[in-house]
Amino acid sequence: MARTIARMTSLNSTQIYNFCAGPAALPKEVLQQAQREMLDWRGLGVSVMEISHRSADYQQLATEAEQRFRQLLNISQDYAVLFLQGGASLQFSNIAMALLNSSNQAEYLCNGIWSNKAALEASRFGNVAQLDVMRIDSNGHRSLIDLANISRPTNPAYTHFTPNETIEGLRFSQLPQTDGALVADLSSCILSEQINIADYDLIYAGAQKNIGPAGLTLVVVKRELFSQMNFDQCPSIFNYQKQDQNGSMINTPATYSWYLAALVFEWLERQGGVVAMEQLAIEKSNLLYQCIDQDEFYTNPIALKDRSRMNIPFILKDESLNATFLQQAKQADLVGLNGHRSVGGMRASLYNAMPLTGVQALTDFMLHFKAHHG
Ligand SMILES: *Cc1c(COP(=O)(O)O)cnc(C)c1O
Repeated sequence: MARTIARMTSLNSTQIYNFCAGPAALPKEVLQQAQREMLDWRGLGVSVMEISHRSADYQQLATEAEQRFRQLLNISQDYAVLFLQGGASLQFSNIAMALLNSSNQAEYLCNGIWSNKAALEASRFGNVAQLDVMRIDSNGHRSLIDLANISRPTNPAYTHFTPNETIEGLRFSQLPQTDGALVADLSSCILSEQINIADYDLIYAGAQKNIGPAGLTLVVVKRELFSQMNFDQCPSIFNYQKQDQNGSMINTPATYSWYLAALVFEWLERQGGVVAMEQLAIEKSNLLYQCIDQDEFYTNPIALKDRSRMNIPFILKDESLNATFLQQAKQADLVGLNGHRSVGGMRASLYNAMPLTGVQALTDFMLHFKAHHG
């Protein structure tokens, strides 16, 4: 009770760290700016939510957001940058609809739940070679297999992979080689590490992990690829080329999510951009893995070379303590730590908005918890 009152009287002094996997924490500064601008955006006397997406003010916001995003990832004009809806899951289908036909095949490298879902959705539109690239040994340890050691389809239309598997906590540290177009689902790692966009033909990400609120999906597609795409059978809003020609506004886009994404991109610039985020991600994840790896009390089952920097699942040696762990963590203002329902245990997601102090608070808590229950 006393605590609730303290929170109500001085909202800013209580620091809660939110480790939720998605929708995930946004930078506090961004939320505060959105709060200040809620009723009166740019002196218009109304909220940004309440104006036409075709107005000059909104168009300016939209264009600036795209430019900032392009700068952050060094994306040239050879690529279209689209601000779409439907989530990453719609892209599972949209990509296949555009690129698969009756005479080709796509390769899906599957290392977890999301990549498996992507393959399953794609297979409804054409021929998909689904390759299981995660190995689980008898101790439950997981690792990515060496792609050189498996047989792969020749000349696929494209190869799809998920550089960071959000649920299992596996990360590709090397790009897969392919003769086809390279397509990647970066939902849970976009803007957390530098990428060379020229290595990819299409990347996409749901916004709600590392970009902004749900409802927005970023798609970056090489314009050259349009000539290989067929949109005859699908709705116009799924037509990447048309969306490109219409500034992602064939219909009303997710204007408020787009606005918040723009604020996040500005915030990222102030932090030092993707270079700084990558350094921070390495530092934060190292700190947590070191804490987990000290002894057997906590374990993360992923091979060192394949560990995610964004999503770190861990289990307690004594799983009967799970509920107590989560409850006490919450009392210590560390929230969103429950593991995915399919994996159990705990998961800490360390997206860009998570400061180093949040991970320090978490590891302090974990050591303290171990001292009392170890
Ligand atoms: C969260 C997530 C998705 C699902 O995103 P939606 O926007 O909910 O469709 C897909 N892929 C990955 C890698 C994710 O982390």
